Amino acid sequence: MTAAGSGVNEGSASGGRGKWKVEVDRSVCIGSGVCAGSVPEHFALRGGRSTPLHPETAPDDRLIGAADSCPVEAISVIDPMTGEVIAPVE
Ligand code: SF4
Repeated sequence: MTAAGSGVNEGSASGGRGKWKVEVDRSVCIGSGVCAGSVPEHFALRGGRSTPLHPETAPDDRLIGAADSCPVEAISVIDPMTGEVIAPVE
């Protein structure tokens, strides 16, 4: 018996080819809608605050753009394997 191949690459070192974790701090979000307007596949306004539609998702550069564009830096994109903050970049 071999381990089931999930097709997901685990344990990649640098490069972050695994999934990304997307978080929105709803206590910080001001509901500007910039993220939902620019990447509607990933963010929606619920109750006047942004919510990530896919808390874990395949890497997508548009998520970096959304995190960098948020006026209050409420969005975090994290590599769940390393804990590294991918965006916003300081
Ligand atoms: S861009 Fe930032 S402040 Fe605006 S809705 Fe998205 S998370 Fe909230």
